[in-house]
Amino acid sequence: MSLKPNAKVVLEVKDLRTHFRTDAGIVKAVDGVSFTLHEGETLGIVGESGSGKSVTNLSIMRLIPSPPGKVVGGEALFEGVDILQLSEKQMREIRGNKISMIFQDPMTSLNPFLKISTQMVETIRLHEKDVSKEEALKRSIEMLKLVGIPSAEKRIQSYPHQFSGGMRQRVMIAMALSCNAQVLVADEPTTALDVTIQAQILELINNLSSKMGTAVILITHDLGVVAGMCDQVCVMYAGRIVEKAGTDDLYARPSHPYTEGLIKSVPRMDTKQKGNRLFSIEGQPPNVIDLPPCCPFHPRCNKAMDVCRSAYPPVKDLGSGHEVACWLYADEAAKKAALAEAQTKEKAE
Ligand code: SF4
Repeated sequence: MSLKPNAKVVLEVKDLRTHFRTDAGIVKAVDGVSFTLHEGETLGIVGESGSGKSVTNLSIMRLIPSPPGKVVGGEALFEGVDILQLSEKQMREIRGNKISMIFQDPMTSLNPFLKISTQMVETIRLHEKDVSKEEALKRSIEMLKLVGIPSAEKRIQSYPHQFSGGMRQRVMIAMALSCNAQVLVADEPTTALDVTIQAQILELINNLSSKMGTAVILITHDLGVVAGMCDQVCVMYAGRIVEKAGTDDLYARPSHPYTEGLIKSVPRMDTKQKGNRLFSIEGQPPNVIDLPPCCPFHPRCNKAMDVCRSAYPPVKDLGSGHEVACWLYADEAAKKAALAEAQTKEKAE
């Protein structure tokens, strides 16, 4: 897997911030997320539950329930236009059309009372008004064949419950791509499926992405999933990206202690783990309500220093598009200055 620097940029997210107002305080669910997605590229967004990965996706799709949530800052440039500023009507033209989504449980997106044929034809005609019913049905059958549904001409007349979980996910992928989407957002698309089916679905997304040039954002809690699938990876923790790199580079030199922990906790077939318990990162993700301005990973980090408990680490560019937010990579002068500033603030309070 390699980055595709010469490919066209399809989506550029800059300093995205999404907050939720709760009785207990402000939840900064996404707090300054930036990334660039190129045509035909697959970007993995990885993190534990509550890290902000799904809220990042929902913010871009403008699906944050408001109130209590609100995108309070940043930009999401799709074909150069900031989609965060579009009207709901304009956004409906993009959502499900140019940017499509698939979720963990396809049943939440499929209507159980309508045949797949009706749902696929409606989806296509909603976004392309001049396509006839016959044409839309033909295209739907082609898409089902493409995603590996056997006897597609017959199966398209079935209801969602007549498909297995894996087959339903294939139907969702076919629907998502039937409008020639430029970006496919897949949020934990295989979590509910068994391991063999998981691999097949991921391979399918990968093949379709290369065949159709669709850029993919894959949201997952499992770093193992991104290894064979993604060109680049963003690792999220407590609402921020703590490490960003090309996938091979991330595996070759994981630099943030959290990423190291995630990689160690991926089961490996080439090492003897029989009898040994799988590594897991100790401790719990932080409560993101009113987080103090310090490294949120410090209570779980065995490399934490005084400065980590006092100030948020700056982002360090390690070269080749590899970035990390960790005090281990800052110079001594920066650490001293951050510590002094934190102490001055503490005295003033
Ligand atoms: Fe650990 Fe400090 Fe780096 Fe945070 S900034 S990950 S606490 S070393």
